[in-house]
Amino acid sequence: MTNRRESILSENLLEVQGLKIHYPVKSKNRLGNSVSWSKAVDGVSFTVKKGETFGVVGESGCGKSTTGKAIIRLLEPTEGKILFDGKDISGYSRKELARKIQMIFQDPFSSLDPRMTAGTCIAEPLSVHKVGTKKERRDRAVQLMKDVGLREDQYERFPHEFSGGQRQRIGVARAIALQPELVVCDEPVSALDVSIQAQILNLMKELQNKYKLTYIFISHNLSVVKFLCDRVAVMYLGHIVELADKKELFDNPCHPYTKALLDAIPIADPDVKSMNGELTGDVPSPLNPPSGCCFHTRCPYATERCRKEAPVLHETAKGHTVACHQFHESETL
Ligand code: SF4
Repeated sequence: MTNRRESILSENLLEVQGLKIHYPVKSKNRLGNSVSWSKAVDGVSFTVKKGETFGVVGESGCGKSTTGKAIIRLLEPTEGKILFDGKDISGYSRKELARKIQMIFQDPFSSLDPRMTAGTCIAEPLSVHKVGTKKERRDRAVQLMKDVGLREDQYERFPHEFSGGQRQRIGVARAIALQPELVVCDEPVSALDVSIQAQILNLMKELQNKYKLTYIFISHNLSVVKFLCDRVAVMYLGHIVELADKKELFDNPCHPYTKALLDAIPIADPDVKSMNGELTGDVPSPLNPPSGCCFHTRCPYATERCRKEAPVLHETAKGHTVACHQFHESETL
């Protein structure tokens, strides 16, 4: 079993190479109109292995959702490539790609059409792709409802008749209806109560085993990522600043930003003190990112070099890469 999983995890399903997504932002000044560029994602590279759950974490505005949208071609890259099974995704039609990559969205209410019943909503991708007969599509939708913990008698109910957790179950069933290989999950539980979050995460694990799914799991919540993911990339202001196996990242975080994020996880013991100091200030604007290391305006270890020179990702242990000058110099932060 372990060998089989290891061999599944050794094959790359997705490769993101130097992805940049820059948005033009028009503004007026005394000299007329000008265009500046918002660097939402600025040179991100990573691979996702078949069968794994790859986590992408960071604060709001770090570029994680933008990266997810580029992977399903909701956004076109400004620069860089995304390869799925070795082929550039721009070489697939949107319809072909939809059969291979799907997305689960954050808000289970707005992502469902309020005029469609739960069953129709789940069967809709099958209709669009002309899969099977009408009866087969209905049977498949019923099976998917059961797979996600809903009942057949709820087929004709509308989204507003379901709770938030049940709506997200419909969203999950719809996302896997076409049996995609990769599912991009964009904060799929952050709009739900904590007790419901655990149910949906357990459901996602079950479905991953049953349907041999690969997940990219985007979240700002490190506790959730720790539960579900195999490897984790930490993003800050459009860059990956650290990438490692989940255990390695949580046991041995290197980047000051990762340490600060881990420190922000609430501990249910008032006597346990924070080890690394809290993260202060906001993420700078991607319209005007800081020079040098993009984290230097919030980093307690920043030096003159950090303000001038951007660090590159550097391997510190097998499969563990970090972008930080100070760490590579002393490894004692
Ligand atoms: Fe902090 Fe400098 Fe490392 Fe950036 S390169 S994280 S500013 S120590």
